[in-house]
Amino acid sequence: MFKKILIANRGEIALRIVRACKEMGIQTVAIHSTADANAMAVRLADESVCIGPPQSRDSYLNIHAILSAAALTGADAIHPGYGFLSENAQFARMVEEHGFTFIGPKPEHIDTMGDKVMAKQTAQKLGLPVIPGSPGAVEDAESGLKMAVEMGFPILIKAASGGGGRGMKVVHQESEFVEQYKTARTEAKANFGDDTVYMEKYLGQPRHIEIQIFGDKHGNAIHLGERDCSTQRRHQKVVEEAPSPALTAEARREIGERTAEMIRQMGYVGAGTIEFLWENGKFYFMEMNTRIQVEHPVTEMLTGLDLIAEQIRVAAGEKLSVTQDQVGFNGHAMEVRINAEDPETFIPSPGEIKMLHVAGGLGVRIDSAVYSGYKIPPYYDSMVGKLIVHGKNRAECIARMKRAIGETVVDGVKTTLPLHLWILEQPEFVSGQYNIHWLEKKLAAKNAQKE
Ligand code: ADP
Repeated sequence: MFKKILIANRGEIALRIVRACKEMGIQTVAIHSTADANAMAVRLADESVCIGPPQSRDSYLNIHAILSAAALTGADAIHPGYGFLSENAQFARMVEEHGFTFIGPKPEHIDTMGDKVMAKQTAQKLGLPVIPGSPGAVEDAESGLKMAVEMGFPILIKAASGGGGRGMKVVHQESEFVEQYKTARTEAKANFGDDTVYMEKYLGQPRHIEIQIFGDKHGNAIHLGERDCSTQRRHQKVVEEAPSPALTAEARREIGERTAEMIRQMGYVGAGTIEFLWENGKFYFMEMNTRIQVEHPVTEMLTGLDLIAEQIRVAAGEKLSVTQDQVGFNGHAMEVRINAEDPETFIPSPGEIKMLHVAGGLGVRIDSAVYSGYKIPPYYDSMVGKLIVHGKNRAECIARMKRAIGETVVDGVKTTLPLHLWILEQPEFVSGQYNIHWLEKKLAAKNAQKE
């Protein structure tokens, strides 16, 4: 087992990793930018190293500074968290070349799955159903238009290197296609440094259902069930829950086994998520994330497993701590993302948290790195924490989440908690009848009413 792990991240996930390491008796090194000197992970880690100025490219994306910090502190492994360098194959390679263990999959798997065109082709080859669309990259507007007409509108143009819900263009009719295609490529180049785009049928009312998977270095692979992340705004997840209100136990087992089989065939090592759209009882592979995800606590609450600890053990060469038969799904779990944003305009609200009171009680978990007196820096993502609840069923979860939000006080900055409370009260959410377009439509209707 590792003696010391360097955490190449910040915020709540850095703290989450520190916590897992402490329980495993592993020393931790937190890295931080000058803007994060007072971060909770920095305070709680055994050691910390300042690796650069606030801008991510000079600090959390600065591979040389991170590797120097690992060498300087004598770390033997690096955990990348999510975002930043977590899906950068070059980083994973350099980590290994410098004699550290990368807590994540093999670089070639990061490469394959990071390119969404290749990822789709791989999934299809390994037996998963994919969203109907172009067989590969769409090289020019003319052939794209021909394909789109055959597929039928609306279609979606996606950037092969896109992520974070960005780099997608819906095209509703033939006359818009050429212009949208050109814009999509220009924007993809500007945002992701790669103008490769591909095309998919735009699904009208799908749910986003993703399967958590895990592989080890001994050829074992398991799935830990699904998370339903259909409550989205601008293609970004807002609420996540498991089990999905839409799936039967039979459907869960079937898709779970198929995805586990896919990663077994790949020889995939570590945590990963296979994202699907689900419509009319059918799953369509969308993409794979080769890292731990923001919403991993939902699965932890349901299975009782510590996914970060599992990542660390697997990276150290140990076998998965459970077999598929030993994975149980107990009750229901739900997570809301707490963003420091205005809950109506979604404008970021950085600044000082003057006072913080967090919820507690049975089945309530808060994963956050903020505290009273903490200054949220303006340079990074606005997500400052996650509120997760567990209950014996979905109704209890909703009641518990409302109760927990009611107890939480964040003074000094605006947060999205009022939005969550509102979502939890909507009849479509309560009945579980929502899809990926539901929240945006509902918000638009709410705003129209006000005017
Ligand atoms: P990213 O990597 O940017 O998160 P994804 O491919 O995971 O991109 O897609 C993000 C979201 O975009 C999905 O959860 C879904 O809401 C929407 N989306 C993606 N593909 C389609 C599609 N073919 N039809 C309708 N919505 C889609």
